[in-house]
Parts: sequence; C-alpha cells; structure tokens
Amino acid sequence: MAVKPVLSFTEKGIYCPAGDFYIDPWRPVPRALVTHGHLDHARPGHGAYLATHAALPVIRHRLGAITADGIGYAEPRQIGAAQVSFHPAGHVPGSAQIRVAVGGEVWVVSGDYKLATDGLSEPFESVKCHTFITECTFGLPVFHWPTQAQTAADMAAWWGRNAANGRVSVMGAYGLGKAQRIMAMLADHGLQGPIYTHGAVEPITQILRAQGYSLPPTTKVAGPVPTNALVIAPPSALGSAWAAKLGPHAEAFASGWMALRGVRRRRNLGTRFVISDHADWDGLNSAIRATGATRIFATHGYTTQFRRWLEAQGYDAGIVATEWQGEAAEGEPEANPE
Ligand SMILES: [Zn+2]
Ligand SMILES: [Zn+2]
Repeated sequence: MAVKPVLSFTEKGIYCPAGDFYIDPWRPVPRALVTHGHLDHARPGHGAYLATHAALPVIRHRLGAITADGIGYAEPRQIGAAQVSFHPAGHVPGSAQIRVAVGGEVWVVSGDYKLATDGLSEPFESVKCHTFITECTFGLPVFHWPTQAQTAADMAAWWGRNAANGRVSVMGAYGLGKAQRIMAMLADHGLQGPIYTHGAVEPITQILRAQGYSLPPTTKVAGPVPTNALVIAPPSALGSAWAAKLGPHAEAFASGWMALRGVRRRRNLGTRFVISDHADWDGLNSAIRATGATRIFATHGYTTQFRRWLEAQGYDAGIVATEWQGEAAEGEPEANPE
C-alpha cells in the first residue's frame, strides 16, 4: 500500500488527510490552521480556526465572530492521526510556521517568514523536517535587504529633514506588522516627533500593545497634526484626499518591492525605503538549508524560478499553486485591511 503524503494540495488549500484539517485555506473549510493574520492566510468563513495565542486577537478583530482556539508556540497538539505544533516565523507578531508529523514523517509549512529579528515579532526558529513548504515572495537573487538599523537611520534622517522643512512625514506601510515594526524601530533609534496613525493602522496597533508588544505611543489622525509628526498609513492612503488634508507633507513607501527598479519607476511614491517582513534571497536559502529537508515545495511568489533553482541545488522540488500569487502576497489584500 502506498503511503499517503502528510499534506496534499487541493483546490481549497493545503490539506492534511490524517488530521482532516487545512492550513491557510482560501475557500471555506470545516477546520483551518492559520499561520498569521494577513488576509491572504486568514480567510473568513471557516468552521473552526486554530492559531497562536499571539495571532488570535488580530485575527478575531479582522474576521469578527469566529470559532477559534489558541495554541502556544511549540505546544504539541494531536489532531486525528497527526501531531501539530506552531513555531515562530519572525514575519509579524504572532506569526507561525506549522509542523505536521504523521507516523514519523515531518512536514513544515513556513507561512510567511523572515530570518532577521525585527525587535517585535517572535524570532524565526528553524524546524527540522523531511519536507518544507516555503514561501518565496522574494525568491530572486536581486532581493537583498539592508539591515534594520540602516533603514531606521535612513527613515529617522528623512523624518528629521521633513520636520525641519515644516512638512509632516507620511509613511505608507501595511497595517499589520510593517506599520508596528516601523514605529518600534524608530522608537528604538530615537523619535523625531510624535507618531500618528491612519484609522486602518491604529486598532491593530492598540490590540498588539494590549498584548504586551512594546510600541511607542500613537494617536489616530483626527484633524491637523504637528509638522514634526510621523503619520503611518496604509499604502493606499498615499496621494489620497485623506493625505492632502494633512497639509504640507512628504510621502514615503516602505516595502520589499522597492528593491525592484521597475516598481520604483512605475509607482510615483515619493521616498522609498526597502524593508520587508519576508525573507530575502539569502534568507530563503539559509532557512531551507537549516531545515535539513530534501523535498521542498515553493509557494507565494516567484515559484517557477525558485523551483528551478532548488532543483539545480539537488532538491526534490515542486510548486504549490495558490489563489494568491506574486504581488498579492504583500500587496493589495493588505492595503485596506479594515
Ligand atoms: Zn503575511
Ligand atoms: Zn502571505
């Protein structure tokens, strides 16, 4: 009798036959294990959710009334014939990789991840496995991130220059993760003034602060702001009527996509900062090596190119197709999270 794979790939998402559950499914299913609260992973409509205790408050905020259970990092849980556990992915606060073991065979679904510590998210932990399903949002050698300390210094200098010129600083950043990472790293570096937030950023910031994540004070924009303020808003707010009401201001956009020259040209977005909550090329490769896995499936991003690269490195490599490909992984689903 042929051995069933630990996980299989269905039109609803990644499925575990031994435990009868899905991981980050994009169509409604009875039981979903969810890696984190970004909308391409935490979809509405499932019968029951399982996520880390740290991820659940934001997931509940975004999805409303759901049936959900929390789990601690590294806490084993038996579901049918499968043993599952969640391990830090370093992507955003509460994010996890999901380990699934069935009869001695171990698979890990990475979710979204990054190796660099951001001072806010639980740091990425490598998990040994036979098969690793990895995201590859930035799976091309052109993607190489500067250090967070360098980016923080650049942002603080930009903010200080704007304040000196009587201009409010408006930073476009995704509402869950990136926005809070930026405020925390700037607080660490030294604030140039008060931090204000867009209505799509403030509720998530408050939820994470209440959970105990260390974040500087923020005020939701509700009228004029001082010229030495930094306003953190979703990227969709850049260039909008909402931003115009802030008066004289300078805009910046913080994203991994800013590493691509074509994107910088196409999008007229003022100052750009290269900062991502996904692994860059070196990060992906070292994460994969550290798992010890011999079989790798690529998902979320440059899957075709990345699979070819993995095969050239001697891996047994495949692709997991999802409904959310390429730019959607860090793009529009996060633009209007409310
Ligand atoms: Zn994500
Ligand atoms: Zn994603």
